Amino acid sequence: MQIPLMPISNPTDEERHELLLNALENDNRSHDYEYIVKYLSPPPDITYYAMPGELKGIKIGIIGGGLSGMSTAFELRKLGADITIFEASDNRIGGRVYTYYFDPERNHYGEFGAARVPVSHETTWHYINMFGLHMRSLSGKGNNFLYVHNTRLRTTDSIEKTSIPYIN
Ligand SMILES: Cc1cc2nc3c(=O)[nH]c(=O)nc-3n(C[C@H](O)[C@H](O)[C@H](O)COP(=O)(O)OP(=O)(O)OC[C@H]3O[C@@H](n4cnc5c(N)ncnc54)[C@H](O)[C@@H]3O)c2cc1C
Repeated sequence: MQIPLMPISNPTDEERHELLLNALENDNRSHDYEYIVKYLSPPPDITYYAMPGELKGIKIGIIGGGLSGMSTAFELRKLGADITIFEASDNRIGGRVYTYYFDPERNHYGEFGAARVPVSHETTWHYINMFGLHMRSLSGKGNNFLYVHNTRLRTTDSIEKTSIPYIN
């Protein structure tokens, strides 16, 4: 079943950078801002280093179909390479990015791996924007459950500990 897509309300690059700068200013670290943006940004496009089609006829094997392997494959394909991804899991790709659906209708799901993309992760945002992925804000959304060291926590305005222990 297809999950209905909501309108994209992702922050613009300017909004993300403003959030980052505000957070750094609150921590008296605004001098780190330029370094963070610079060093977490993606390198120049791969076609800056080689011509499209330059790797045509070259076979390249990539071990692992997580974010690293798939983004590497995506970039090398721009140069025309013949890519094979070798993935140990025989039923899914994604590695440590793993959305698990509890029901066939896909109404209930949880992130078993990465869930949050910090505003400073320029390279991740580069691909999010390129592929038009829908992001949801975590801030201000209460009523979430977290399990930390076998204790169930509920997010409200501030995180509060519930008395219900986590049961496997
Ligand atoms: C619980 C959890 C929460 C996280 N939360 C966040 C978060 O909120 N924000 C964030 O930015 N990051 C988060 N991370 C980290 C993020 O998930 C990883 O940094 C990222 O997914 C790593 O991607 P990768 O491609 O480098 O490695 P992986 O995702 O580990 O991919 C490696 C792939 O290689 C395969 N593989 C391994 N060995 C072989 C082999 N010999 N042959 C074939 N295939 C092989 C594996 O099956 C896997 O698919 C979290 C990670 C975990 C586990």
